[in-house]
Amino acid sequence: MKFYYPTLAALFTLASANDLHARHAQLAHNKRQNNLAATGATTSSAPPTPPAGTSASAPAAPPQITTTPLGPGTDIPPLASIVSGAPPEATAALTATFSPGQKPTYSGALPLPSTFVFRQGDWPTSDVVPDTTTPQVQAWMQELNGFNIPNIPPTADGTCVGDPTAASDAANRGWWTCGGFTRVTDIVACPNKLTWGVSFDDGPSDYSTKLLDFLGQKSLQATFFVVGSRVIERPQVLLEEYMSGHEISVHTWSHRPLTKLTNEQVVAELGWTRKAIQAVLGVTPTTMRPPYGDIDDRVRAISMAMGMTPIIWTRSPSGQQFDTNDWRVPGGLVNGTDSLTSFQQILGNATQLDTGFVVLQHDLFQQTVDLAVGYSLPAALSFQPQLTLEPIGKCQGWPASNLYLETTTNTTFPFTNSTISSNATTTNPARASAAATGAAHGGSGGGSSSGALGSLSSGVSFLVAAALALVGGLLVV
Ligand SMILES: [Zn+2]
Repeated sequence: MKFYYPTLAALFTLASANDLHARHAQLAHNKRQNNLAATGATTSSAPPTPPAGTSASAPAAPPQITTTPLGPGTDIPPLASIVSGAPPEATAALTATFSPGQKPTYSGALPLPSTFVFRQGDWPTSDVVPDTTTPQVQAWMQELNGFNIPNIPPTADGTCVGDPTAASDAANRGWWTCGGFTRVTDIVACPNKLTWGVSFDDGPSDYSTKLLDFLGQKSLQATFFVVGSRVIERPQVLLEEYMSGHEISVHTWSHRPLTKLTNEQVVAELGWTRKAIQAVLGVTPTTMRPPYGDIDDRVRAISMAMGMTPIIWTRSPSGQQFDTNDWRVPGGLVNGTDSLTSFQQILGNATQLDTGFVVLQHDLFQQTVDLAVGYSLPAALSFQPQLTLEPIGKCQGWPASNLYLETTTNTTFPFTNSTISSNATTTNPARASAAATGAAHGGSGGGSSSGALGSLSSGVSFLVAAALALVGGLLVV
C-alpha cells in the first residue's frame, strides 16, 4: 500500500486515460456498435507513471497465454478476427425460463415475483438521465435525510482533463477517476491472493447468453453489474443470470459518469436501476459499480445512503488499472489481440499482489463476450499459479443473501473491507467530521454516531454511519 499525491505527470497521464474513457461513454451505449467509426485513437491508454517517492515493484513479465487458433465450426472466432466490425454471430438462446415462485439456490433466497411486464409509462426513457422531478425520485431523495452528503460540486464531465480544478482536488474528494483515490468502504479487490473476483458490466445484452452458457459449462459464477435500461429490455436474461447463481449489482440507468450529475440525478440513476432489478428478480442489490469507476465522496455518500456499497476494480501499486480494455474493441480503438495482452499483464500484476483482484470486463458486445469465452476465461482457468475464480461478493466472504436488501442479515452495513488498509490516514478532518450522523435507510430506525457500524432493523432499515468519510486519506491500491 502506498500513499501519495499524484505528480503532475501522473495526472496528465491519467487525464489521457480519461479522455479515452469519455469515448467509452459514447461507445458502450450505442447499441449499433458496429456502426461506430474509429476516432483516430489507436492505442490503449498508457499505464500511469509510478509516482515519485514510491517503491512500486517493476511490472511482472506477462505470462504466456496459449491461444489455440479457432476457425469455422467453432463458436469462438480466431483472436485476430475479434475486431471492430466483426460479422455478427448468431446469438445463443436462453437455456431456461423461470416462473414466479421459483427460488434461486442460495440460502435465504426469496421466491421470484410475478413475471415482469414492460409498460413504457412505468419507466424513464432508456439511456437518458431520468427526470428528477417525478414523485418517485423525490421519494428516493428522502433516503438521503440524516446523511451528510459532501457538498462537492459536480465535475464538468467526469474526466480529469475536462475539469482540471476538480482533478487538482481529487485526493481531497476521494475521486477515483483521477488518481485512483479510494475510501475504506470501496471494494476494489478480493481478499485472498490469486482469487479473481469475476465481473461483467453493462448488460444484459444479446450476447450475455453465450457467456452464461460458458460459465455454466465451467461451473463458474460471476457478478453482473447491470444497466437499468438493459434490464427492462431483457428481463429474461437477468433472470437467467440470477437463477444460475450469479450475483446482480446496480450499474446505473443511463451509464453516465456519476460525478458530473447532481445529487438528484445520481439518486434517479441508482433508484431506477434498483427498481428495475427488483421488479424482475424481487430483490434489491446492496452493491453498485459506478460507470467508468467515476466516484467521489459525494457519489459514495449518496450510494451508501441508498444502501449500496461501491465496487470498483483493482489498480496495481503502480497505478495500472485491471481493465481488459475489451470495451475498446467494438469501436476499433484496440483489437482483440491488444485486449488479451492487457489481460496477460493483469494476470502478471495479479501475482505480485498480496490480495486477490477484480477486473473490468463487459458482456455488452459480441467481441467482449468472445474475448471472455474464448480467451481470457480459458487463460485464467489454465493459469499457473492456479487462480480461484469467484463472483465478487463471494470472494469477500459475504453470504449471497446479503447482496440483496430484502434478505440481508448484515448488521454492519456498509460491508467491511479487508483489502484497503484500515490505517489509511485521515487527511481531511473537516470532511471526516462531516461523516454521517447516522440515519435510517428506508425510513425507519435510528441514528448512530459511532462511525463505522450500522445495524439492521425492521428488515430493511440500515442504520448507516458513513464510514466512507472516516478516512480522508488517499490510498492507491
Ligand atoms: Zn459500464
